[in-house]
Amino acid sequence: MPKLAQMSKELSDVQLVVSELVGEHAIPIIDFLTGKEKISEFIIAEELEMEINEVRNILYLLLEHNIVRFLRKKDRIKGWYICYWDFNDHMVPHLKFKILENKLENLHNRLTAESAGQYYICTRACMRATFDEAMEMNFKCAECGIILQEQDNTRTKEFLSERIAELEKQLNKAKPKKRKVKASA
Ligand SMILES: [Zn+2]
Repeated sequence: MPKLAQMSKELSDVQLVVSELVGEHAIPIIDFLTGKEKISEFIIAEELEMEINEVRNILYLLLEHNIVRFLRKKDRIKGWYICYWDFNDHMVPHLKFKILENKLENLHNRLTAESAGQYYICTRACMRATFDEAMEMNFKCAECGIILQEQDNTRTKEFLSERIAELEKQLNKAKPKKRKVKASA
């Protein structure tokens, strides 16, 4: 069990970063660039059997997040400019850390909201409303009209707290070490 978890974690850092920031469709391009240097966008398009514009669009999105970098060179024979791409694999730990940080913040916000407000639910599971929303609807479900019940959100809060503790551990492990050295230098 821990071995499998570790293996999939090892595999998925890059995949996690790419799919969270750009989308799963960008993973094949990163896979293709991995272990190579200065790859022409035409080669990527050809090898992955994609349209050049599609490849460029994905590369620009990856570039926005610093996941790739490029070098623009004039082709001496054809006379036009070609971009050569590299995967910034050293960025992956920093980007992963940022993603986890954002997730943790969202969970904290949700827990705060759960702790602050009482929620009302339709027992037929049509909807869930805050106290203010429920009051506006006279405590009746907007879908089916039955009276809304006060929700016991103890389980939700417990679940969120567990996820937060888990994510804090992950975040501690994911903390990029090199960045700290550079920042203090
Ligand atoms: Zn309902």
